[in-house]
Amino acid sequence: MEHTLDPQDWEAMRKLAHTMLDDALDYLQTVRNRPVWQPTPEATKALLRQPLPQEPQSAEDIYNTFKNNVLPYTKGNIHPRFWSWVQGGGTPLTVLADMLAATMNPNTAIGDHAPMYMELQVLDWCKELVGFAPEASGMLLSGATMANLTALAVARNAKHPDNVRQSGITAPLVLYVSQETHNCMQKSAEMLGIGNRALRKIPVGTDFKMDTVQLEKQITQDRAQGLLPFCVVGNAGTVNTGAIDNLAAIAEICRREELWFHVDGAFGAWAKLLPDYAPQLKAIENADSIAFDLHKWGWLPYDIGCVLVRDRDAHRAAFATEANYLLTHERGLAAGPEPMGNYGIELSRGFRALKAWFLFKEQGVQQLAQMVQQNITQTFYLQQLIQKQPSLEMLTPVTLNIACFRYVVQGKDDVYLNKLNKEILMQLHEQGIAAPSYTILGGKYAIRVANVNHRSRREDFEALVEAVLQIGAKLVLSL
Ligand SMILES: *Cc1c(COP(=O)(O)O)cnc(C)c1O
Repeated sequence: MEHTLDPQDWEAMRKLAHTMLDDALDYLQTVRNRPVWQPTPEATKALLRQPLPQEPQSAEDIYNTFKNNVLPYTKGNIHPRFWSWVQGGGTPLTVLADMLAATMNPNTAIGDHAPMYMELQVLDWCKELVGFAPEASGMLLSGATMANLTALAVARNAKHPDNVRQSGITAPLVLYVSQETHNCMQKSAEMLGIGNRALRKIPVGTDFKMDTVQLEKQITQDRAQGLLPFCVVGNAGTVNTGAIDNLAAIAEICRREELWFHVDGAFGAWAKLLPDYAPQLKAIENADSIAFDLHKWGWLPYDIGCVLVRDRDAHRAAFATEANYLLTHERGLAAGPEPMGNYGIELSRGFRALKAWFLFKEQGVQQLAQMVQQNITQTFYLQQLIQKQPSLEMLTPVTLNIACFRYVVQGKDDVYLNKLNKEILMQLHEQGIAAPSYTILGGKYAIRVANVNHRSRREDFEALVEAVLQIGAKLVLSL
Protein backbone atom coordinates (compact mmCIF):
# COMPACT_ATOMS: atom_id res chain seq x y z
CA MET A 1 0.00 0.00 0.00
CA GLU A 2 1.24 3.48 -0.86
CA HIS A 3 1.39 6.12 1.81
CA THR A 4 0.45 9.75 1.90
CA LEU A 5 1.11 12.39 4.51
CA ASP A 6 -2.60 13.26 4.60
CA PRO A 7 -4.56 12.01 7.61
CA GLN A 8 -6.12 8.54 7.50
CA ASP A 9 -9.03 9.77 9.56
CA TRP A 10 -10.24 13.05 8.10
CA GLU A 11 -13.10 13.26 10.60
CA ALA A 12 -10.68 13.17 13.53
CA MET A 13 -8.54 15.82 11.81
CA ARG A 14 -11.63 17.96 11.25
CA LYS A 15 -12.57 17.70 14.92
CA LEU A 16 -9.05 18.62 16.03
CA ALA A 17 -8.95 21.49 13.54
CA HIS A 18 -12.14 22.96 14.98
CA THR A 19 -10.72 22.67 18.48
CA MET A 20 -7.51 24.41 17.40
CA LEU A 21 -9.44 27.18 15.71
CA ASP A 22 -11.69 27.72 18.74
CA ASP A 23 -8.65 27.74 21.01
CA ALA A 24 -6.89 30.22 18.74
CA LEU A 25 -9.82 32.62 18.76
CA ASP A 26 -10.22 32.27 22.55
CA TYR A 27 -6.52 32.95 22.90
CA LEU A 28 -6.80 36.17 20.91
CA GLN A 29 -10.00 37.31 22.58
CA THR A 30 -8.63 36.88 26.11
CA VAL A 31 -5.10 38.13 25.50
CA ARG A 32 -5.61 41.14 27.79
CA ASN A 33 -6.19 38.85 30.80
CA ARG A 34 -2.78 37.24 30.57
CA PRO A 35 0.65 38.55 31.57
CA VAL A 36 2.30 40.30 28.66
CA TRP A 37 5.31 37.99 29.05
CA GLN A 38 6.50 35.20 31.31
CA PRO A 39 9.83 33.43 31.48
CA THR A 40 10.22 30.25 29.45
CA PRO A 41 10.13 27.41 32.02
CA GLU A 42 12.89 24.81 32.20
CA ALA A 43 10.35 22.12 31.29
CA THR A 44 9.60 23.88 28.01
CA LYS A 45 13.28 24.36 27.23
CA ALA A 46 13.86 20.65 27.93
CA LEU A 47 10.92 19.70 25.74
CA LEU A 48 12.53 21.69 22.95
CA ARG A 49 15.84 19.83 23.16
CA GLN A 50 14.55 16.37 22.16
CA PRO A 51 16.07 14.11 19.50
CA LEU A 52 14.59 13.89 16.01
CA PRO A 53 11.30 11.94 16.27
CA GLN A 54 11.54 8.50 14.65
CA GLU A 55 7.96 7.31 15.01
CA PRO A 56 4.63 9.01 14.23
CA GLN A 57 2.71 10.61 17.09
CA SER A 58 -0.95 11.46 17.22
CA ALA A 59 -1.98 14.92 16.09
CA GLU A 60 -3.96 15.40 19.34
CA ASP A 61 -0.88 14.66 21.44
CA ILE A 62 1.29 17.01 19.45
CA TYR A 63 -1.28 19.76 19.70
CA ASN A 64 -1.71 19.29 23.45
CA THR A 65 2.03 19.36 24.01
CA PHE A 66 2.19 22.61 22.05
CA LYS A 67 -0.80 24.08 23.85
CA ASN A 68 0.56 23.37 27.32
CA ASN A 69 4.25 23.99 26.84
CA VAL A 70 4.74 26.45 24.02
CA LEU A 71 1.66 28.60 23.54
CA PRO A 72 1.72 30.27 26.98
CA TYR A 73 5.39 31.27 26.69
CA THR A 74 5.17 33.54 23.72
CA LYS A 75 6.87 36.82 23.00
CA GLY A 76 3.83 38.89 23.91
CA ASN A 77 3.58 41.19 20.91
CA ILE A 78 -0.13 40.46 20.51
CA HIS A 79 -0.70 41.83 24.04
CA PRO A 80 -2.14 45.34 24.62
CA ARG A 81 0.81 46.36 26.82
CA PHE A 82 3.58 45.24 24.46
CA TRP A 83 5.64 48.09 23.00
CA SER A 84 9.04 46.47 22.52
CA TRP A 85 11.29 46.99 19.50
CA VAL A 86 8.76 47.79 16.75
CA GLN A 87 6.39 44.85 16.56
CA GLY A 88 2.84 44.54 15.38
CA GLY A 89 0.17 42.32 16.85
CA GLY A 90 -1.66 40.78 13.90
CA THR A 91 -5.44 40.60 13.53
CA PRO A 92 -7.80 37.61 13.79
CA LEU A 93 -8.95 37.64 10.18
CA THR A 94 -5.40 37.76 8.87
CA VAL A 95 -4.51 34.78 11.06
CA LEU A 96 -7.22 32.90 9.18
CA ALA A 97 -5.94 34.26 5.88
CA ASP A 98 -2.52 32.82 6.70
CA MET A 99 -4.17 29.47 7.35
CA LEU A 100 -5.87 29.65 3.96
CA ALA A 101 -2.60 30.65 2.31
CA ALA A 102 -0.97 27.56 3.81
CA THR A 103 -3.95 25.48 2.69
CA MET A 104 -3.56 26.53 -0.94
CA ASN A 105 0.20 26.45 -0.45
CA PRO A 106 1.10 27.95 -3.82
CA ASN A 107 4.71 28.69 -4.58
CA THR A 108 4.50 32.28 -5.80
CA ALA A 109 7.73 32.19 -7.79
CA ILE A 110 6.19 31.68 -11.21
CA GLY A 111 3.09 30.57 -13.10
CA ASP A 112 -0.42 31.49 -14.12
CA HIS A 113 -2.42 31.27 -10.91
CA ALA A 114 -4.51 33.69 -8.85
CA PRO A 115 -1.93 34.14 -6.05
CA MET A 116 0.54 35.63 -8.58
CA TYR A 117 -2.06 38.18 -9.68
CA MET A 118 -2.99 38.87 -6.09
CA GLU A 119 0.59 39.81 -5.24
CA LEU A 120 0.54 42.31 -8.11
CA GLN A 121 -2.74 43.68 -6.76
CA VAL A 122 -1.32 44.08 -3.26
CA LEU A 123 1.83 45.70 -4.67
CA ASP A 124 -0.35 48.20 -6.55
CA TRP A 125 -2.10 49.01 -3.27
CA CYS A 126 1.27 49.42 -1.56
CA LYS A 127 2.31 51.88 -4.29
CA GLU A 128 -0.87 53.87 -3.71
CA LEU A 129 -0.26 53.82 0.03
CA VAL A 130 3.12 55.57 -0.23
CA GLY A 131 2.52 57.57 -3.42
CA PHE A 132 4.55 55.56 -5.94
CA ALA A 133 3.40 55.49 -9.57
CA PRO A 134 1.63 52.37 -10.90
CA GLU A 135 4.59 51.70 -13.24
CA ALA A 136 6.90 51.09 -10.28
CA SER A 137 7.95 47.52 -9.56
CA GLY A 138 8.01 45.76 -6.25
CA MET A 139 8.03 42.60 -4.24
CA LEU A 140 6.67 41.29 -0.97
CA LEU A 141 9.47 40.00 1.25
CA SER A 142 10.03 38.81 4.80
CA GLY A 143 10.48 42.33 6.14
CA ALA A 144 12.16 45.69 5.81
CA THR A 145 15.62 44.16 6.20
CA MET A 146 15.23 42.13 3.03
CA ALA A 147 13.40 44.99 1.34
CA ASN A 148 16.23 47.42 2.13
CA LEU A 149 18.84 44.93 0.95
CA THR A 150 16.95 44.36 -2.29
CA ALA A 151 16.60 48.09 -2.97
CA LEU A 152 20.27 48.72 -2.27
CA ALA A 153 21.25 45.92 -4.64
CA VAL A 154 19.27 47.67 -7.38
CA ALA A 155 20.83 51.03 -6.46
CA ARG A 156 24.35 49.57 -6.49
CA ASN A 157 23.88 47.95 -9.90
CA ALA A 158 22.14 50.97 -11.40
CA LYS A 159 24.85 53.42 -10.33
CA HIS A 160 27.94 51.26 -10.82
CA PRO A 161 29.87 52.29 -13.96
CA ASP A 162 30.52 48.71 -15.16
CA ASN A 163 28.03 45.88 -15.21
CA VAL A 164 28.34 44.65 -11.61
CA ARG A 165 26.71 41.34 -12.44
CA GLN A 166 29.52 40.71 -14.90
CA SER A 167 32.51 42.29 -13.26
CA GLY A 168 31.68 42.46 -9.56
CA ILE A 169 32.36 45.75 -7.83
CA THR A 170 35.20 47.60 -9.53
CA ALA A 171 34.34 51.18 -8.56
CA PRO A 172 34.83 52.77 -5.10
CA LEU A 173 31.13 53.12 -4.25
CA VAL A 174 30.10 55.12 -1.17
CA LEU A 175 26.77 54.74 0.63
CA TYR A 176 25.31 57.42 2.92
CA VAL A 177 23.06 56.72 5.89
CA SER A 178 22.61 58.51 9.19
CA GLN A 179 23.98 57.49 12.58
CA GLU A 180 20.42 56.54 13.50
CA THR A 181 19.82 54.32 10.45
CA HIS A 182 18.81 50.74 11.26
CA ASN A 183 21.65 48.22 11.39
CA CYS A 184 20.17 46.30 8.46
CA MET A 185 21.84 48.94 6.26
CA GLN A 186 25.22 48.00 7.62
CA LYS A 187 24.47 44.34 6.94
CA SER A 188 23.32 45.26 3.44
CA ALA A 189 26.50 47.21 2.76
CA GLU A 190 28.52 44.20 3.91
CA MET A 191 26.46 41.72 1.88
CA LEU A 192 26.62 43.85 -1.26
CA GLY A 193 30.39 44.09 -1.18
CA ILE A 194 30.33 47.82 -0.45
CA GLY A 195 31.87 47.31 2.96
CA ASN A 196 31.76 49.33 6.13
CA ARG A 197 34.71 51.44 5.01
CA ALA A 198 32.44 52.89 2.33
CA LEU A 199 29.42 53.30 4.59
CA ARG A 200 29.18 56.89 5.78
CA LYS A 201 27.13 57.31 8.95
CA ILE A 202 26.28 60.99 8.73
CA PRO A 203 25.83 62.67 12.15
CA VAL A 204 22.38 63.63 13.37
CA GLY A 205 21.21 66.75 15.20
CA THR A 206 19.62 66.81 18.64
CA ASP A 207 16.38 65.88 16.85
CA PHE A 208 18.05 62.65 15.62
CA LYS A 209 17.62 63.73 11.98
CA MET A 210 20.45 63.48 9.49
CA ASP A 211 22.50 66.66 9.28
CA THR A 212 22.14 67.34 5.57
CA VAL A 213 24.88 69.99 5.58
CA GLN A 214 27.28 67.31 6.79
CA LEU A 215 25.90 64.99 4.13
CA GLU A 216 26.74 67.45 1.37
CA LYS A 217 30.19 68.10 2.81
CA GLN A 218 30.92 64.40 3.00
CA ILE A 219 29.79 63.81 -0.57
CA THR A 220 32.05 66.63 -1.81
CA GLN A 221 34.96 65.34 0.22
CA ASP A 222 34.48 61.78 -1.06
CA ARG A 223 34.31 62.94 -4.66
CA ALA A 224 37.49 64.97 -4.17
CA GLN A 225 39.21 61.76 -3.08
CA GLY A 226 38.14 59.99 -6.26
CA LEU A 227 35.43 57.93 -4.59
CA LEU A 228 32.02 57.30 -6.13
CA PRO A 229 29.00 58.30 -4.03
CA PHE A 230 26.01 56.31 -5.28
CA CYS A 231 23.13 56.33 -2.79
CA VAL A 232 21.67 58.14 0.21
CA VAL A 233 19.24 56.43 2.56
CA GLY A 234 16.67 58.68 4.22
CA ASN A 235 14.83 57.53 7.32
CA ALA A 236 11.06 57.84 7.49
CA GLY A 237 10.93 57.02 11.19
CA THR A 238 14.13 55.81 12.85
CA VAL A 239 14.02 52.76 15.04
CA ASN A 240 15.41 54.52 18.13
CA THR A 241 13.22 57.60 18.30
CA GLY A 242 10.93 57.70 15.24
CA ALA A 243 12.82 60.63 13.72
CA ILE A 244 11.89 61.51 10.15
CA ASP A 245 14.88 62.83 8.20
CA ASN A 246 14.51 65.92 6.07
CA LEU A 247 13.54 63.82 3.08
CA ALA A 248 12.91 66.77 0.78
CA ALA A 249 16.46 68.06 1.39
CA ILE A 250 17.94 64.60 0.85
CA ALA A 251 15.89 64.17 -2.34
CA GLU A 252 17.21 67.48 -3.64
CA ILE A 253 20.83 66.58 -2.84
CA CYS A 254 20.35 63.24 -4.60
CA ARG A 255 18.85 64.93 -7.64
CA ARG A 256 21.71 67.42 -7.88
CA GLU A 257 24.41 64.83 -7.26
CA GLU A 258 22.73 62.15 -9.37
CA LEU A 259 22.57 59.71 -6.48
CA TRP A 260 20.02 56.99 -5.81
CA PHE A 261 17.54 58.15 -3.14
CA HIS A 262 16.30 55.27 -1.01
CA VAL A 263 13.87 55.60 1.91
CA ASP A 264 13.75 53.22 4.85
CA GLY A 265 10.13 53.69 5.89
CA ALA A 266 9.86 50.44 7.86
CA PHE A 267 6.97 51.75 9.94
CA GLY A 268 7.06 55.52 9.44
CA ALA A 269 6.00 55.37 5.79
CA TRP A 270 2.49 54.62 7.05
CA ALA A 271 2.28 58.06 8.66
CA LYS A 272 2.14 59.51 5.15
CA LEU A 273 -1.58 58.68 5.32
CA LEU A 274 -2.06 61.36 8.01
CA PRO A 275 -2.52 65.07 7.25
CA ASP A 276 -0.10 66.03 10.06
CA TYR A 277 2.72 63.94 8.59
CA ALA A 278 1.99 63.95 4.85
CA PRO A 279 4.04 67.13 4.17
CA GLN A 280 7.17 65.72 5.90
CA LEU A 281 6.79 62.45 4.02
CA LYS A 282 5.78 63.84 0.64
CA ALA A 283 9.34 63.49 -0.69
CA ILE A 284 8.90 59.70 -0.53
CA GLU A 285 7.21 60.28 -3.88
CA ASN A 286 10.60 61.37 -5.27
CA ALA A 287 12.46 58.37 -3.94
CA ASP A 288 14.02 55.85 -6.30
CA SER A 289 13.06 53.08 -3.91
CA ILE A 290 11.39 52.50 -0.58
CA ALA A 291 11.28 49.66 1.92
CA PHE A 292 8.52 49.28 4.48
CA ASP A 293 6.85 46.67 6.61
CA LEU A 294 3.31 45.41 6.83
CA HIS A 295 3.92 43.54 10.09
CA LYS A 296 4.60 46.62 12.25
CA TRP A 297 2.11 49.30 11.35
CA GLY A 298 0.05 47.26 8.91
CA TRP A 299 -0.64 44.71 11.67
CA LEU A 300 -0.23 41.62 9.55
CA PRO A 301 1.02 38.43 11.14
CA TYR A 302 4.74 37.91 10.58
CA ASP A 303 6.32 38.07 8.18
CA ILE A 304 5.72 40.60 5.42
CA GLY A 305 7.54 43.65 4.11
CA CYS A 306 7.53 45.44 0.80
CA VAL A 307 10.11 46.93 -1.54
CA LEU A 308 9.12 49.32 -4.30
CA VAL A 309 11.40 50.59 -7.06
CA ARG A 310 10.51 53.53 -9.28
CA ASP A 311 12.46 52.28 -12.31
CA ARG A 312 11.18 48.81 -13.19
CA ASP A 313 13.94 48.26 -15.76
CA ALA A 314 16.64 48.98 -13.18
CA HIS A 315 14.92 46.59 -10.76
CA ARG A 316 14.75 43.81 -13.37
CA ALA A 317 18.30 44.46 -14.48
CA ALA A 318 19.55 43.68 -10.99
CA PHE A 319 17.93 40.25 -10.70
CA ALA A 320 16.43 38.88 -13.93
CA THR A 321 18.05 35.72 -15.22
CA GLU A 322 17.11 33.09 -17.73
CA ALA A 323 16.96 29.42 -16.94
CA ASN A 324 15.60 26.64 -19.10
CA TYR A 325 13.44 25.41 -16.25
CA LEU A 326 11.89 28.86 -15.61
CA LEU A 327 10.84 29.97 -19.09
CA THR A 328 7.49 31.72 -19.37
CA HIS A 329 5.10 30.06 -21.86
CA GLU A 330 2.29 31.56 -23.96
CA ARG A 331 -0.40 29.44 -22.37
CA GLY A 332 -0.90 26.89 -19.65
CA LEU A 333 0.41 26.88 -16.08
CA ALA A 334 3.81 28.24 -17.12
CA ALA A 335 2.23 31.40 -18.58
CA GLY A 336 1.11 34.27 -16.36
CA PRO A 337 2.86 37.31 -14.90
CA GLU A 338 6.59 37.78 -15.01
CA PRO A 339 8.36 35.44 -12.56
CA MET A 340 8.87 37.20 -9.22
CA GLY A 341 12.45 36.00 -9.15
CA ASN A 342 13.21 38.73 -11.70
CA TYR A 343 12.77 41.24 -8.89
CA GLY A 344 14.64 39.70 -5.99
CA ILE A 345 16.86 36.94 -4.74
CA GLU A 346 14.13 34.52 -3.63
CA LEU A 347 12.79 31.79 -5.87
CA SER A 348 10.36 29.69 -3.82
CA ARG A 349 8.02 31.97 -1.91
CA GLY A 350 4.84 31.60 0.10
CA PHE A 351 1.55 33.38 -0.39
CA ARG A 352 2.19 36.52 1.70
CA ALA A 353 -0.16 38.61 -0.40
CA LEU A 354 -3.31 36.84 0.82
CA LYS A 355 -3.21 38.18 4.37
CA ALA A 356 -2.52 41.69 3.05
CA TRP A 357 -5.45 41.43 0.65
CA PHE A 358 -7.74 40.36 3.50
CA LEU A 359 -6.46 43.19 5.72
CA PHE A 360 -6.87 46.01 3.20
CA LYS A 361 -10.36 44.82 2.31
CA GLU A 362 -11.51 44.19 5.88
CA GLN A 363 -10.23 47.46 7.35
CA GLY A 364 -10.03 49.87 4.46
CA VAL A 365 -7.15 52.29 4.31
CA GLN A 366 -9.06 55.04 6.16
CA GLN A 367 -9.42 52.89 9.24
CA LEU A 368 -5.79 51.80 9.06
CA ALA A 369 -4.77 55.45 8.92
CA GLN A 370 -6.96 56.16 11.97
CA MET A 371 -5.20 53.40 13.85
CA VAL A 372 -1.79 54.86 12.98
CA GLN A 373 -3.07 58.20 14.27
CA GLN A 374 -4.40 56.57 17.45
CA ASN A 375 -0.98 55.08 18.19
CA ILE A 376 0.66 58.48 17.72
CA THR A 377 -1.93 60.23 19.88
CA GLN A 378 -1.45 57.61 22.61
CA THR A 379 2.31 58.14 22.53
CA PHE A 380 1.87 61.89 23.03
CA TYR A 381 -0.52 61.05 25.87
CA LEU A 382 2.17 58.86 27.45
CA GLN A 383 4.58 61.80 27.17
CA GLN A 384 2.10 63.98 29.08
CA LEU A 385 1.82 61.37 31.82
CA ILE A 386 5.61 61.18 32.09
CA GLN A 387 6.03 64.96 32.17
CA LYS A 388 3.65 65.17 35.15
CA GLN A 389 5.97 62.97 37.22
CA PRO A 390 9.01 64.64 38.84
CA SER A 391 10.78 61.26 39.03
CA LEU A 392 10.39 60.57 35.31
CA GLU A 393 12.21 62.27 32.46
CA MET A 394 11.69 62.22 28.70
CA LEU A 395 15.03 61.66 26.97
CA THR A 396 13.82 63.17 23.72
CA PRO A 397 10.46 64.68 22.78
CA VAL A 398 7.91 62.41 21.11
CA THR A 399 7.58 63.17 17.40
CA LEU A 400 5.86 60.03 16.14
CA ASN A 401 5.02 56.79 17.98
CA ILE A 402 8.15 56.30 20.09
CA ALA A 403 8.69 57.56 23.63
CA CYS A 404 12.09 57.26 25.33
CA PHE A 405 12.13 58.07 29.03
CA ARG A 406 13.74 57.09 32.32
CA TYR A 407 13.30 57.12 36.06
CA VAL A 408 15.49 59.76 37.68
CA VAL A 409 16.79 60.24 41.20
CA GLN A 410 18.15 63.58 42.39
CA GLY A 411 21.92 63.66 42.68
CA LYS A 412 22.51 60.32 40.92
CA ASP A 413 24.72 60.00 37.86
CA ASP A 414 24.07 58.17 34.59
CA VAL A 415 25.93 55.06 35.71
CA TYR A 416 23.49 54.67 38.61
CA LEU A 417 20.45 55.65 36.55
CA ASN A 418 21.36 53.31 33.69
CA LYS A 419 21.57 50.39 36.09
CA LEU A 420 18.35 51.42 37.82
CA ASN A 421 16.34 51.80 34.63
CA LYS A 422 17.58 48.53 33.19
CA GLU A 423 16.46 46.81 36.40
CA ILE A 424 13.07 48.56 36.22
CA LEU A 425 12.64 47.28 32.67
CA MET A 426 13.52 43.69 33.54
CA GLN A 427 11.09 43.74 36.46
CA LEU A 428 8.32 45.17 34.29
CA HIS A 429 8.83 42.18 32.01
CA GLU A 430 9.19 39.60 34.77
CA GLN A 431 6.06 40.80 36.54
CA GLY A 432 4.21 40.53 33.24
CA ILE A 433 2.92 44.09 33.55
CA ALA A 434 4.15 45.72 30.37
CA ALA A 435 6.81 45.18 27.75
CA PRO A 436 8.51 48.34 26.58
CA SER A 437 12.06 47.83 25.31
CA TYR A 438 15.17 49.93 25.67
CA THR A 439 17.80 51.90 23.88
CA ILE A 440 20.72 54.10 24.81
CA LEU A 441 20.53 57.78 23.87
CA GLY A 442 23.62 59.88 24.44
CA GLY A 443 24.90 57.39 27.01
CA LYS A 444 21.58 57.32 28.87
CA TYR A 445 19.64 54.07 29.22
CA ALA A 446 16.10 54.71 27.99
CA ILE A 447 12.93 52.79 28.61
CA ARG A 448 11.55 52.87 25.09
CA VAL A 449 7.92 52.52 24.07
CA ALA A 450 7.36 51.95 20.34
CA ASN A 451 3.63 51.95 19.84
CA VAL A 452 2.27 50.08 16.84
CA ASN A 453 -0.25 48.31 19.04
CA HIS A 454 -3.87 48.34 17.88
CA ARG A 455 -5.00 46.76 21.18
CA SER A 456 -3.50 49.39 23.53
CA ARG A 457 -5.79 51.79 25.36
CA ARG A 458 -4.94 54.94 27.30
CA GLU A 459 -5.29 52.98 30.55
CA ASP A 460 -2.45 50.71 29.45
CA PHE A 461 -0.06 53.64 29.32
CA GLU A 462 -1.33 54.80 32.70
CA ALA A 463 -0.61 51.31 34.07
CA LEU A 464 2.90 51.46 32.62
CA VAL A 465 3.71 54.79 34.24
CA GLU A 466 2.30 53.64 37.57
CA ALA A 467 4.34 50.43 37.48
CA VAL A 468 7.57 52.25 36.56
CA LEU A 469 7.03 54.63 39.48
CA GLN A 470 6.34 51.80 41.90
CA ILE A 471 9.20 49.59 40.84
CA GLY A 472 11.55 52.57 40.67
CA ALA A 473 10.68 53.81 44.17
CA LYS A 474 11.15 50.34 45.65
CA LEU A 475 14.48 49.87 43.92
CA VAL A 476 15.81 53.24 45.03
CA LEU A 477 15.22 52.17 48.62
CA SER A 478 16.99 48.86 48.16
CA LEU A 479 19.91 49.87 45.90
C1 LIG B 1 12.17 47.15 11.93
C2 LIG B 1 13.01 48.04 11.12
C3 LIG B 1 13.81 47.55 10.10
C4 LIG B 1 13.96 46.06 9.85
O1 LIG B 1 12.73 45.52 9.48
P1 LIG B 1 12.41 43.97 9.66
O2 LIG B 1 10.99 43.88 9.22
O3 LIG B 1 12.58 43.68 11.12
O4 LIG B 1 13.35 43.21 8.82
C5 LIG B 1 14.51 48.44 9.33
N1 LIG B 1 14.41 49.76 9.54
C6 LIG B 1 13.65 50.28 10.53
C7 LIG B 1 13.58 51.76 10.70
C8 LIG B 1 12.92 49.43 11.35
O5 LIG B 1 12.15 49.94 12.32
